[in-house]
Amino acid sequence: MSTDRKDWNINTRLNHPKPVHMLKGNEPLISPVYLSAKFSPSEDFPYWDQYIYGRVANPTTRQLEITLAELQNKEECIVVASGIAAITGTFLALLKAGDHIITFRELYKPTRMFIRENLTRFNIESTVVALKDIEKLESVIKTGKTKIIHFESPTNPTLEIADIKKIIDIAKKNKILVSMDGTFAGIHQHTQFDVDIMIHSLTKFGNGHGDVIAGSIAGKTSLIQEIRSMCINLGATLDPHASYLIQRGLKTYMLRYERQTETAQKIAEFLEKHAKVKAVIYPGLQSHASHALAKEQMRHMGATVAFEINSSATKFCHKVKLIQFTASLGSTESIICPTDLFFGTDLGQEEKKEMGINENTLRLSVGLEDPEDLINDLTQALEN
Ligand SMILES: *Cc1c(COP(=O)(O)O)cnc(C)c1O
Repeated sequence: MSTDRKDWNINTRLNHPKPVHMLKGNEPLISPVYLSAKFSPSEDFPYWDQYIYGRVANPTTRQLEITLAELQNKEECIVVASGIAAITGTFLALLKAGDHIITFRELYKPTRMFIRENLTRFNIESTVVALKDIEKLESVIKTGKTKIIHFESPTNPTLEIADIKKIIDIAKKNKILVSMDGTFAGIHQHTQFDVDIMIHSLTKFGNGHGDVIAGSIAGKTSLIQEIRSMCINLGATLDPHASYLIQRGLKTYMLRYERQTETAQKIAEFLEKHAKVKAVIYPGLQSHASHALAKEQMRHMGATVAFEINSSATKFCHKVKLIQFTASLGSTESIICPTDLFFGTDLGQEEKKEMGINENTLRLSVGLEDPEDLINDLTQALEN
């Protein structure tokens, strides 16, 4: 009996291709994509310090985590299969039966649904505060029970700005963890704030090309370890090929973000002057209710513009030609959606009114097209 490769039959050979080893020091400039779901351990190191199984750890995915931790000024980061997996994994890791979480009315709809429909099944209570009523935040804390305050800034879809320092101060005073979904502002922003858990949907600006679904959670090592083991147990780990695409996309992240912000500002100013536009909400406009706070907290005002017209938002979305009518944001192509249809269906009339959502309101995510082409498209849609 031989175990020599030369004596193997065809199926054995096909399933054990010859490995290609690099000479020490002969390194690729771009890290390879390790698609292998398993790795053979070496006798020379403790087994559990090594890569063994892809659901637990993968070198390509690890590189992305290290990049994102550094970019966000945090000790550790974990990347997962979606932005919503980052949120649900965090909640499931840090909350237990009998606990309480505080969130804000202005919240990404699937997050709201998870808290309302899933967390309640595990006897985890929640209280919702309107962002403008932040003064009430302290009064809804349940001593010994409230474990997390979770918020977004800017909010989806109406771009309200949270007073982050105020939220952190109240949370710290009461020994509550702060979790922030920073998706709308992008990964490079708000890194000066000491939020315990910073979450991003990498599907948006992180990947930026509209072809990957992913999420990230960054914070102190001790917290991220807890969240990591929950996410591994949930099987929510990110695929290495997806990790590679995001890592690649990140090289142009700042270029994209800066350009998208510049164009968004131009479009917001254009819309504000247009007779058929009733209102424009963009943190970079003087007219934004929290313009000063946004300037204090953010380096770039973002690529998302909300506005209200005098007619049906859904019809408007079918009139634009270059701008695409669909979900999501932060991609290279500009995207528009009617806010009521996409984000308002679970809200009451009164809530929607207060949040400025109605059948004439829209959310536009600005891409990398030339601004004049986008403005031409908006003009023809407004005037037809
Ligand atoms: C898109 C989005 C998410 C969810 O991210 P997915 O990658 O789609 O799961 C969470 N929060 C905000 C603010 C988002 O815009």
